[in-house]
Amino acid sequence: MRAQVVGTVEAVEKGFRYRPQLKVAIGDGVMQTLLLRFFHFNRAQAEQFRVGTRLLCYGEVRQGNAGLEMVHPQYRRLEDDASVALDEQLTPVYPTTEGLGQKRLGNVIAKAMQQLPAETELELIPPGLCAKFGLTSLREALLYVHRPPPDARIDQLIQGRHPAQQRLAFEELLSQHMSLKRLRATVRERRAPKLGGNGKLRQQWLKSLPFQLTAAQQRVIKEISADIAQPSPMLRLVQGDVGSGKTAVACAAALAAVEAGYQVALMAPTELLAEQHLRNFRHWLEPLGIHVEWLAGKQQGKARQQAMQRVTEGAPIVIGTHALMQEGVSFARLGLVIVDEQHRFGVQQRLALRDKGIEGELVPHQLVLTATPIPRTLAMSAYADLDISAIDELPPGRTPVQTVAISNARRAEVIERISVACMERRQAYWVCTLIEESEQLRAQAAEAAHAELSHALTECPVGLIHGRMKPKEKQAVMDAFKSGQLSVLVATTVIEVGVDVPNASLMVIENSERLGLAQLHQLRGRVGRGAVSSNCVLLYQPPLGQLARERLQVMRETNDGFRIAEKDLELRGPGEVLGTRQTGQLSLRIADLARDAHLLPAVQQVGEYMLAHHHEQAARLIERWIGGAARYAAA
Ligand code: ADP
Ligand code: MG
Repeated sequence: MRAQVVGTVEAVEKGFRYRPQLKVAIGDGVMQTLLLRFFHFNRAQAEQFRVGTRLLCYGEVRQGNAGLEMVHPQYRRLEDDASVALDEQLTPVYPTTEGLGQKRLGNVIAKAMQQLPAETELELIPPGLCAKFGLTSLREALLYVHRPPPDARIDQLIQGRHPAQQRLAFEELLSQHMSLKRLRATVRERRAPKLGGNGKLRQQWLKSLPFQLTAAQQRVIKEISADIAQPSPMLRLVQGDVGSGKTAVACAAALAAVEAGYQVALMAPTELLAEQHLRNFRHWLEPLGIHVEWLAGKQQGKARQQAMQRVTEGAPIVIGTHALMQEGVSFARLGLVIVDEQHRFGVQQRLALRDKGIEGELVPHQLVLTATPIPRTLAMSAYADLDISAIDELPPGRTPVQTVAISNARRAEVIERISVACMERRQAYWVCTLIEESEQLRAQAAEAAHAELSHALTECPVGLIHGRMKPKEKQAVMDAFKSGQLSVLVATTVIEVGVDVPNASLMVIENSERLGLAQLHQLRGRVGRGAVSSNCVLLYQPPLGQLARERLQVMRETNDGFRIAEKDLELRGPGEVLGTRQTGQLSLRIADLARDAHLLPAVQQVGEYMLAHHHEQAARLIERWIGGAARYAAA
């Protein structure tokens, strides 16, 4: 534990056995001694410690060889007869960094506190609102957290739940919220093409589908249609669990744009997923006489030139990866941008594609599809710039996946189980999940697993797919698996998103303990798409850490994407969940969305009020917390 102690130096020893070390024993004169250890010290420092000197120390106490000790505590010499300063205030401990010690930082902050502007200058939230929502004043809050009184609730402070800290968290969330709202307002001021037609194309397409849209799909399509028929740009996030049928919703939206004579760009995060969209859309739309264009990074030379040419000339639907956003790609009349699996793209990328559409004054509508359900609390703050539609219903006839976690020590049993499943004409995925960044290492791991399984499963044909293969090869393997020629497909996480083989009803995920919940849920979503009941085996390498154990437990308990997302947020924190850590979009300093979610309703109310009635203060508050980043986002 961390503790603050007072003691008198009883012995000092300088040692140089392995490296320089200064050992100072302090005691309370009764029975306890505590050893202070310093590995970095100068002579002057060493000389401060004389037997009899009284010290006030703060640090982490741990059990050493010779009793309790502290390594590099913070300390202060007390004057001989000074009554211990403990009763003045508690000492805050700041996160430090190399070259900036606790003491120096503490001094700087203490000086800043002395120069704290007066209440009226500091406070940007109107006092009436502070009172209404029970917010401590900013000045009080700052003084409190930097100089907590001795009777402060330390447990509250440590958890960040003290009203003074909550006030700071509130203000930070407020600035984020208002900044996104403002961004959205700027976007809304732009004009967008009206994409409303008589819906004839859509009717034709619906008739050709082998299934009926679910009520949820229909509702979401209605919401989108209403938006894009307006002359201001839509910004809508469609969230629907894996397998809920987001592609069909995207297609319905695309048809409205095509009917109105505008182009549609559909962007997916991986080539495999983009290819699958391409096949779906071609299969659905070519019979209706609508050409679907392909634009991906691997496309080279002439093929690429020609594809770009057709896009410039107005190809109605263009599907691809982030290659769609590259320079040199220009659209004739881009009316709708659809982004699949949003959590992989940052806000900036989204804006980049949108900007492709700027045609004179018009910007395209934006539809974002995500299978990672975003907890409401997060959505409200991180996606305040988007409207949200939920496909909260799966197509009929799906059966929940039964999930078990099994130690890798029982790998042979699992392989045996696959063999039995194959005999029953079921198909299985075997997913290799090296988290190494290198595609090559991942491919190697998959190749090894492929060799192992091919050897063990003599009766079942085993295929292999990974990111290093050419698109054509990948396609051939996927086709063979889809048609049932292959019983088992060994894959890297390239299959994570979007791949659809309804007859596959068994999935084994290797090293599942290394994956996050969102990814596990995505992967598992590849099975359970047909009428037969499905199983998922989470192979893990023992021993399991606490976090991994909890994750696997959640996976066993539920198939509900929303519950999994809530849990994910709780376990990992919002930056990771949204995948925005790199983009810096949601780098909160004080607030913690999981802990402070209860503040959000009030944040929204105050935000709305301030943007409407206190524009100047709102701008200053955003500047205070977000500064240049906000200007960049709005640019
Ligand atoms: P996701 O939301 O994960 O992207 P997909 O759009 O890939 O889901 O749909 C999953 C599967 O469900 C596809 O095979 C699709 O054709 C099918 N599907 C979509 N909507 C329906 C529906 N209303 N009824 C039956 N099957 C559907
Ligand atoms: Mg999908």
